[in-house]
Amino acid sequence: MLEDAGLQALREAARLSPDNLPLRRHLGEQLLAKGHLADAETELRAALMLAPRDPDVTASLAETFVRRGAYGEALAALEPFLATPGYPPRLGVVAARALLGEGDFGRAAYRYYDAVTRDPSSADPEVATALALPAAPTPAPAPAPPPAPTPAPAPAPPPAPSPAGPPASSFPAPPAPSPAGPPASSLGAGAGGGYPTTAAGPGDGPAEVERARTTFADIAGMDAVKESLRVKLLLPLQQPELFAAYGKRAGGGVLLYGPPGAGKTHLARAAAGELGAAFISVGLADILDMYIGSSERNLRATFDLARRNRPCVLFFDEVDALAARRSDARNTHNRQIVNQFLAELDGVDQNANDGVLVLAATNAPWYIDVAFRRPGRFDQLVFVPPPDAGARAAILRILCRDKPVADLDFDAVARATEHMVGADLKGVVDRAVEVKLHESMRAGHPIPMTTMDLLAAAKAARPTAVREWMATARNYVLHSNESGAWDDLLPWVKGKW
Ligand code: ADP
Repeated sequence: MLEDAGLQALREAARLSPDNLPLRRHLGEQLLAKGHLADAETELRAALMLAPRDPDVTASLAETFVRRGAYGEALAALEPFLATPGYPPRLGVVAARALLGEGDFGRAAYRYYDAVTRDPSSADPEVATALALPAAPTPAPAPAPPPAPTPAPAPAPPPAPSPAGPPASSFPAPPAPSPAGPPASSLGAGAGGGYPTTAAGPGDGPAEVERARTTFADIAGMDAVKESLRVKLLLPLQQPELFAAYGKRAGGGVLLYGPPGAGKTHLARAAAGELGAAFISVGLADILDMYIGSSERNLRATFDLARRNRPCVLFFDEVDALAARRSDARNTHNRQIVNQFLAELDGVDQNANDGVLVLAATNAPWYIDVAFRRPGRFDQLVFVPPPDAGARAAILRILCRDKPVADLDFDAVARATEHMVGADLKGVVDRAVEVKLHESMRAGHPIPMTTMDLLAAAKAARPTAVREWMATARNYVLHSNESGAWDDLLPWVKGKW
C-alpha cells in the first residue's frame, strides 16, 4: 500500500521526537485507521512505554489487537482498566469487541451495555448488531410503566473498519434470541453436562431450567470447596430437622469467587446434580436490558421461574455486574437493578425462597455491594482456588476419560501446566484431541492420545490471567480487608505467582 505524505511526515516527526506522547499516539491512531496494523502496534506500544496508564493509547492498542484477531491480547491490555470502577466507556466497547471475537456474548453484552449507558456516544452499531441489541432504543414492550428509554446509544460513530481489519461479520453469530425477547441468551442449552427440561415460557425471562447431569464426582480436586458446599447447601436441605433443632433455617446464598476458569460454574451445576435439584444458570445477557425497568422485570421473572421449579439451584454468573456497589454505580438504572436483586433475595415473605438455593459466581467479589453479604443473602463466601498440581492431574484425568488414550502420565502434564486453571486444561485437552482426530482421519483408524500430545498442546497454550487475578486480589486482601471477608485468600495471595 502506498503511504500518503501525511503519514510519512508524521513518522518522520515521531522519529525526531521519540518522547512526544501526543505525537506518537496520533501516529499510532493514524496507522490503525489506515490499516497498517503491525506498525500501529509497534507505535502504540512505544507510546504506552511513555505513558503506561494512558487509556486512549490502551484503547487504540487493544483495537489493533482486535482487528488482528488477537482477542486475548486485547483483553489482557484492557484488564487493568476494566478492573477499576468507572473506567472510560470507550475501553468497555473495545472489550466488548474482543469478547465477541472470543464468542463470549454474555460478557460482551455486559461490557457494551455498561459502556453505552454511561456514555451513549461510545455506541458501536456493529457491536450492537452482533449482540442483537437495539442500535437505538424504541419504546419498551408492554406491559411496562411509561417507557423512559435509557440514554440513546445512537448516533454512533461509524465503526470505520480498516481495509486490513476483519469485516463486521467476523463476529460469530449470536445465540438465537429467546422467545422472551432481547437480549439474546448467552446460555447454550446443556452447555456443560446439563440439558434443558422446560423452555422458558413468555414472561419467564430468558433463562432455561436444566437437569444437571454432573455431580461432585465430576469435579476433580477441590475437596475443601466441595465439603464446604456440602455443609452450606446440601446438608441443610437433606437434614432440615437437624438445622431446625438449632434454630437455623436452611437458605441463604453462596458466593463462589476466584479466578476465571477455576470451575465455579462447573461446581454450581454439580451442586444441583448432587441435590437432584433443577438448575437455572443466569448470565448477564439474560438480565441486562437497555430499557428502564426491563432488567428488573427479568430478575423477578428469573426468581419466579426458580420458585416454580423448586428444589432449584439458581446460579448467577458474573454477579458483580448485577450486584455492584451502589456507590460505584454511575447511573440510577444500575442502582435499581441492585435494589431489585436484594428484594428478590429477601423474598416477599419468609418462605418465598424456600427450596431455592441461590449460588453466584464472580471474579471480582470486592465490587459487590456489602448489602449482599447480610444474612439470608450471599452470606457465605467460598473461594474457588486455582488447582494445584495434584488437582490439575485429577482434572486432566476427568477431561480425558471416554477418549482414546494411551497410558497417560497425568502428573507430568500437571507439572507442565503450572498456573493453568480448569478452563485452560480443557483447552489443552481439546487441542490435543483435535490434532489426534486429524491424524486418525488421515490414518483411517483411531490413534490414541499420548502424554507427548498433551505436553505439546500445553506448550502451545497460554494460561488465562491467574497471575493477574492474584495481583489484583493481593491489593484488596492487603489493603481493604477490614471485615476479614477475604481471609481465605490470604495464604494464596502470599504465595508465588
Ligand atoms: P468459571 O465459572 O470459574 O469461570 P468454569 O466452571 O466455566 O469456570 O470452568 C471451565 C471448564 O473447566 C469447565 O466446564 C470444566 O470443563 C473445566 N473444569 C474446571 N474446573 C474443573 C474441575 N475441578 N474438574 C473438572 N473440570 C473442571
